[in-house]
Amino acid sequence: MIDIAANWAAVRGRVDEACRQASRDPAEVTVLPVSKTFGPEVIRAALVLGLNRFGENKAQEIRDKSAALAGEAIDWVVIGHLQTNKAKEVARLASEVQSLDRLELAEALERRLQAENRVLDVLVQVKTAREESKHGLDAADLPGFLDRLHAYPRLRVKGLMTLATLSEDAGEVRACFRQLRELRDQCAAEGHVLPRLSMGMSGDFPLAIAEGATEVRIGTAIFGHRSHPAA
Ligand SMILES: *Cc1c(COP(=O)(O)O)cnc(C)c1O
Repeated sequence: MIDIAANWAAVRGRVDEACRQASRDPAEVTVLPVSKTFGPEVIRAALVLGLNRFGENKAQEIRDKSAALAGEAIDWVVIGHLQTNKAKEVARLASEVQSLDRLELAEALERRLQAENRVLDVLVQVKTAREESKHGLDAADLPGFLDRLHAYPRLRVKGLMTLATLSEDAGEVRACFRQLRELRDQCAAEGHVLPRLSMGMSGDFPLAIAEGATEVRIGTAIFGHRSHPAA
């Protein structure tokens, strides 16, 4: 049996320690618990701990879990690649999308948000890893993309998100996080204020915090290993 309370306390402690190592204030770094593949009973256990914001990578799972947990005040955060035909559900149920990576998706979300009379916080996912399989915008396309997002007022652009390369080489992983921070700084110089940097997962979050993460997305270290793959 996984002890979510103990895991949560340990993760928060490690995040605080990583902040101290980086001479940062722990209050600057949020942990987003990633509950993908885990059922409503696991989320209930997390709610008891005061957690009420969860990362999910499939619209379908958000729909099922929010139905099972109707009545609970939960902020659902989309962190996975989102097909445009899922925009309706996301506009209705999610509070935030961290995987915005193309205008077609922005357009679809805006239209559905209008119908729902809602707004959504968004982070733009940028590709910093060299693997071909990773989703996200090419860094070179970011300034133009941000300019064009002004056309979608129901998307409130708050920052950037990335997944680092999968590597044993800490230097290589850290370079991905550094690239995202540098992009954020370049964008700021061009007038795009993007305060939030979502980067770092169970295996690499101390490096992300050292490079300026304001949010780390943690699944395994809180909820245990996922029994089925979360594509
Ligand atoms: C699953 C996932 C995470 C969490 O990964 P862990 O290694 O389990 O902490 C973070 N970010 C994204 C985008 C994910 O899909």
